[in-house]
Amino acid sequence: MAFSAKTRRYLVAFLIIGWSITLIYSLSRSNPPKYPLKAKRLYRDNRLLMGTFWQVSSPNNQAGAIVFSEVSRIQQLLSKYIQTSEISRLNRLGRLKVSADTFFVIKKSQEFCRLTQGAFDITVAPLVDLWGFTNQEFQVPSDDKIRAVLELVGSDKIILHEKDNVVEFKIPGTRIDLGAIAKGFALDCAVKKLKENNIDSCLINAGGQVYALGNKFGQAWKIAIRGANKSEITTTLELKNKSASTTGNYEQFFFKNGKRYCHIIDPRSGYPAQTQITSVTVVADQGLTADALSTSLFVLGKKDVEEILKKFPGTLVKIY
Ligand code: ADP
Ligand code: MG
Repeated sequence: MAFSAKTRRYLVAFLIIGWSITLIYSLSRSNPPKYPLKAKRLYRDNRLLMGTFWQVSSPNNQAGAIVFSEVSRIQQLLSKYIQTSEISRLNRLGRLKVSADTFFVIKKSQEFCRLTQGAFDITVAPLVDLWGFTNQEFQVPSDDKIRAVLELVGSDKIILHEKDNVVEFKIPGTRIDLGAIAKGFALDCAVKKLKENNIDSCLINAGGQVYALGNKFGQAWKIAIRGANKSEITTTLELKNKSASTTGNYEQFFFKNGKRYCHIIDPRSGYPAQTQITSVTVVADQGLTADALSTSLFVLGKKDVEEILKKFPGTLVKIY
């Protein structure tokens, strides 16, 4: 078949364009770009757990589900607001064989109590109730009432039977409250689960306490810590494989006769902690340490910070 010169030119141009398109298409399929266009996307997931708002941010869209399922499991064990939790049952019965996780947190709490000369003490539970912080019916109790309740408080009231994970209270009426350590422990458990699922980049924010796993696209995670005045950022931190926990006197409190009473109780006096600290932020390798230590330092006050920190090398503290 004969074509005119003009038609031949069109045909050649048409074939070249066709080949080029086929070539580019097949190259793009056999060699997909190393960094897909959406590689820098962060998936965000929120959930209300352990009485606070949890937010998970990660380049992996499975991270949220993994974190929330693990934190729910810990909540079912440790929450004093869930009647069937191990802590609620132990508080009712005075003696209980508990899971390895619950035993671990109670044992760690005992260690913190010892290391902080009693400033951190989970047997503070009856005092938290007495001041009305459990049901939000706040009151200033009489000195007599506080003295009576103090009889139930103290780490020496807990007996730990290591060989069978049994926890026992020495006297009836003693109860425990893991409110100052459970969230930190839940963060650690969630991070362990993420690692088991090969997720190495994630930021978990549990109502102000965070754990930063790995990097965010090659850079440390940047965290803003807000002060008593929520609109003002007091400090920014760059974290990698660390947890930061803040305890402040502005989270839960009530006023009576012009005096402010906050939800952190000094277990030695039976009164809400009366330090000059507005807030204390602790950065540590573990969520549990950051959580328990920020509460402890809030109770102890500025003067004891250096002494206590010697017992926790590698931790960083900011006080306002
Ligand atoms: P938040 O829950 O606001 O993050 P914390 O981690 O400091 O603050 O925990 C506060 C909770 O810990 C209180 O609501 C109470 O249940 C419990 N608690 C209060 N005082 C003490 C204390 N001295 N030692 C251990 N736990 C405490
Ligand atoms: Mg705490």
